[in-house]
Amino acid sequence: MKLFAIFGDPVAHSRSPLMHNSVFKNLNYKACYTRVHLTDGSKLRETFFALKLSGANITVPHKEAAYTACDEVRGFAKKVGVVNTLINENNKLIGYNTDADGFMFAIKEFGAMKNILVLGAGGTAKALCTKFIDAGIKVTVLNRTASSLAYFKELGCSCFTWDDFIIGNYDLVVNTTSAGLKEEILPCPLELVEKILANTSFAADAIYGKETPFLKLSKSKKITCKDGADMLLGQGVLANELFVNYELKTEDIKKFMSKSFEL
Ligand code: NDP
Repeated sequence: MKLFAIFGDPVAHSRSPLMHNSVFKNLNYKACYTRVHLTDGSKLRETFFALKLSGANITVPHKEAAYTACDEVRGFAKKVGVVNTLINENNKLIGYNTDADGFMFAIKEFGAMKNILVLGAGGTAKALCTKFIDAGIKVTVLNRTASSLAYFKELGCSCFTWDDFIIGNYDLVVNTTSAGLKEEILPCPLELVEKILANTSFAADAIYGKETPFLKLSKSKKITCKDGADMLLGQGVLANELFVNYELKTEDIKKFMSKSFEL
């Protein structure tokens, strides 16, 4: 029996155990997925091995600590320095990032994107913006704090704070801030959100499991929008493929993971 876990702080709200256990149980894969409340990110590696885990997911705020905990980081995670999936490969810790591809899966239904505005400049924004730029999309980043914007300027994004923001036209605006997760607040001042929503075709939020004030306002403006549930599903399917070393069919993983959202 293989054991998997999600590490985070907080972690009680995470749907990952439900999602992965639904796949394991329905496809008779001998594995179990639990959650670990980890406050100190520097303890990630020793805790992973002490629990004899075969793999793990990492959530807020340990994704950058997970990067440093790895023996080897592969693919896109290496480029962004942010890891959300760990695999135990012969007692070596291998890191991956499935968040950005999960988001690309989520916005497929919106069609081709040429111009995206990203609200926020944290770990999720880093992964998404890097993916967008790689895909040839023009990216603008708007964040509360100027000092978080250095990575994005280097990447080739147009960067603004609330004070110097110059509005453009966007295919999509994405909220990657944690504003709206716990408190009922917008990701930036109301007058800016109003202007942004008047100049975008679609809106998306990385937050899932609730309608944030940002999504509420987008809906009231009749903008086609979605929360972070499909992103969660997308990153989960890709992580599960890594956990089972591609022994299960992607379509089956997706089917049973989707089913867990009905629970
Ligand atoms: P980080 O802590 O790395 O970044 C948080 C960002 O939010 C920063 O840019 C910060 O701005 C901004 N922010 C925080 N509070 C406020 C506020 N009150 N007003 C305006 N801006 C604020 O977080 P992550 O990038 O890891 O996660 C961000 C969100 O995405 C979380 O809510 C998380 O749950 C969600 N998420 C969802 C996923 C999914 O599968 N659906 C996957 C990954 C993340 P500043 O620089 O000014 O501090």
